[in-house]
Amino acid sequence: MKITRHKRMKTYMKFYRNHFQFKLPYQVLIDGTFCHEALQCKLNIKEQVPHYLEDENVRLFTTACVIKEIEMLGLKVYGAMHILKQFHVRKCGHEKDSLSASDCITSMVADGNPHHLIIATTDPDLSAKCRLISGVPLLYVKYNAVILEKPSGMNKEVANKKMKASTELSEFEKKRLEMTKKKATSEPEDAPKKKKKKGPKQPNPLSCLKKKKKPVVATPVEKEGVKKKRKRVRNKNKSLLKNPGE
Ligand SMILES: [Zn+2]
Repeated sequence: MKITRHKRMKTYMKFYRNHFQFKLPYQVLIDGTFCHEALQCKLNIKEQVPHYLEDENVRLFTTACVIKEIEMLGLKVYGAMHILKQFHVRKCGHEKDSLSASDCITSMVADGNPHHLIIATTDPDLSAKCRLISGVPLLYVKYNAVILEKPSGMNKEVANKKMKASTELSEFEKKRLEMTKKKATSEPEDAPKKKKKKGPKQPNPLSCLKKKKKPVVATPVEKEGVKKKRKRVRNKNKSLLKNPGE
């Protein structure tokens, strides 16, 4: 069971890393319901969440609004409140007028979860709100274990749109492409004309050179004849040179 749970977490977090720029160390924003459920299941959040997410440096947060709400619930949730107060308090901007835990956390992940927060909650209303925002991973407690929810279909749609947008060309780029295509198609028409002009000039001197070589390297008989002729010429030259000197 543990292996499949971890494998699923890995594939889900890989999805968030690839499409929503999630990076290590992960940041988990925890509410009172998650602490309450963890306490019921005797789960140590500080141990289990880093172990499950395979990130020793995972940062666990809550907000002042979440603490205020759980404080108002009194002794019934004293244990959960005690756990919640162990985590760092992240600034939420509602210090003057506190919101409900659900509204506070929803505002923290609004506009596509810019701070890449993982929301740890077992509140069905908050989970439903988070599912409507793209790029919000949800952690919950079930079967005495921490579990990462499968990315919703909406998340996948947004990821696909992002992929298409990154590969699609803008109108300016399309025009540039058309221009370059036109140039590319017009160039070959001019190119052969230039080659034709250059062509006949080059082979002629080469062919002339070959013709000169051919008679020299023809048959062994001819070679001997050539050698004899050359010797005769040399001898003549030598005799001519000797005569004037003498
Ligand atoms: Zn708040």
